[in-house]
Amino acid sequence: MAATFIRSRIARFKSPCHSAGDFGFDYIEDGVIALEQGKILWLEPCETLRRQGFDFSACEELENSLIMAGFVDAHVHAPQLDVVGAYGKQLLDWLNRYTFPAELKFADASYSYAKNQYFVSQLLAHGTTSAMVYTTSFRHSTEHLFEIALAKNMRLLAGKVMMDRNGPSGLLDSPESAHRDCRALIEQWHQRGRLGYALTPRFSPTSSREQLEVAGQLMQQYPSLWLQTHLSENRDEIDWVKQLFPEAQDYLATYEHYGLVTEKSVFGHGIYLSESEMQRIAQRGASIAFCPSSNLFLGSGLFDIAGIKQHGIKLAICSDVGGGTSLSAFKNMADAYKICQLRGYSLNPLEAFYLSSCGAAQALHLDAFIGHLEAGYEADFVVINADTHPFIQQRLKSCSNIEEELFVYMTCGDERLIAKTYIAGQLQYQRAA
Ligand SMILES: [Zn+2]
Repeated sequence: MAATFIRSRIARFKSPCHSAGDFGFDYIEDGVIALEQGKILWLEPCETLRRQGFDFSACEELENSLIMAGFVDAHVHAPQLDVVGAYGKQLLDWLNRYTFPAELKFADASYSYAKNQYFVSQLLAHGTTSAMVYTTSFRHSTEHLFEIALAKNMRLLAGKVMMDRNGPSGLLDSPESAHRDCRALIEQWHQRGRLGYALTPRFSPTSSREQLEVAGQLMQQYPSLWLQTHLSENRDEIDWVKQLFPEAQDYLATYEHYGLVTEKSVFGHGIYLSESEMQRIAQRGASIAFCPSSNLFLGSGLFDIAGIKQHGIKLAICSDVGGGTSLSAFKNMADAYKICQLRGYSLNPLEAFYLSSCGAAQALHLDAFIGHLEAGYEADFVVINADTHPFIQQRLKSCSNIEEELFVYMTCGDERLIAKTYIAGQLQYQRAA
């Protein structure tokens, strides 16, 4: 298959993933990205190509646009798009009042298929090219999501929610049925195409010790699996965990005891972690999903980014839709910035974009494949422009460099900035004119 060439402004983070202060940021005012067979063949500034006698007539030329790596959402719930913006509750009431009823509807297979299709189309429309996704406790809802993501050739991680207590009976599985369903899903979908399976106990209050034991056994049996769950999001939740697991030293220990804290574990939230919990997460190389719009919306608390970074814990900025209020990485970066301001930390735009793309890929252990626009990486990227966003178009005229431009995108922007989304080199979303 012949290569495709796209000429545009390009901003990227060079590999390997960098850490504090240096994000490997690189801005090319006029460059060409060459794609072949789903991967990036090369990426060069036009001045270099001109010297080499490159034929620019082969390029698709993008006006006023910026190519960046696609966004990576390391914590999002596929069945919860219809409860985004549901009024008035904090975490535990919100789950009972909104989340569980929304997830119960996925018992109907045709409903589940249609909603998963909508979810994937919305990820693409928001410029999210990869995600780690919670589905529901129904096995078929995970099958539907994988089937749809496979057809788009997306690098997507997902898992069936495991929950066998403290929820409506229609959503509850059992240790035995969770074991059977997870095994079947792993055998059928894990490492198929670009997909990966993530064991997904919702959080320790909704899983019995026997079920957490099952998750630990599966993790041992299939060491290449991921694991996602929630941790230390809300004070009432933490008190509840103490009552349910009096034997555990702290919230993290309820997972640790079953072998669920590994370098492929991603813990959602982690707002109220103790010094010891942060140290243990860092030692095991696990990641934290910072979910700013959710933390503000549910009144959960203000994430301590400086503390997490001090411990060297891998970190991603995520949506946590439906607790979060938008799938847009721009809107979640804006909320992250404001939370950081309240914690006395200035989140600069390079770090915010980094934590929403290649840093998030690193938190998911996927940074060998995605997150970097460089030869050999998978060609997942977005085209950003403000053509349909007159306010931002006007505001950009006052920007004097790329960092100011990125900061305006994240502070004022939303999914209307996404003109195109490419998955493995194929155009999978294009904004209506
Ligand atoms: Zn969540």
